[in-house]
Amino acid sequence: QRARDAIGALTRSVADFPTTGVIFRDLTPVLADAEGFAAVVEALSEGFEVDAVAGIDARGFLLGGAIAHRLGVGVVAVRKTGKLPPPVLACTYDLEYGTATLEIPASALDLDGARVLIIDDVLATGGTIAATASLLAQAGAAVAGTAVVLELDGLGGRAAVESALPEGAAIRA
Ligand code: 5GP
Repeated sequence: QRARDAIGALTRSVADFPTTGVIFRDLTPVLADAEGFAAVVEALSEGFEVDAVAGIDARGFLLGGAIAHRLGVGVVAVRKTGKLPPPVLACTYDLEYGTATLEIPASALDLDGARVLIIDDVLATGGTIAATASLLAQAGAAVAGTAVVLELDGLGGRAAVESALPEGAAIRA
């Protein structure tokens, strides 16, 4: 509830960004607020028992690092294309606006059999989390669930994530 209050009070909605007709939810003020950040990190971590956290570029890095620390595990940065040296595992997908490619290191991590929690700030169409789940599956990881701060209604994101995650994986928003 503390997290919900902070999200409700501090999220900024910006019309027509990044393109006309889109209402962008800016969570920057929530993460910048000490109580808001703590409440959100706690709400997103609660009850998860995992071996690693995967944080999605870029706000998922901030949340994912704090959540991993709270859960006592390491964090994997899921990066936008072009940032990591080869070899990488890559997944290209459709976004709410445009397309994107996400990457993780192909050989530097040992995720085989690891239970991984995927963290991002916003769930819109679900393409980003589905692509991340596919990358982790390529690495041999078992996606335990995903947690986001905000889920946008009416874009089919939850259904897309449900079909991309293994059966029984948790979806928290
Ligand atoms: P999806 O792949 O679910 O359509 O889009 C989710 C991704 O796009 C997330 O990584 C998220 O950061 C970004 N995104 C999409 N819409 C919004 C929005 O309204 N606000 C913010 N902060 N991020 C968004």
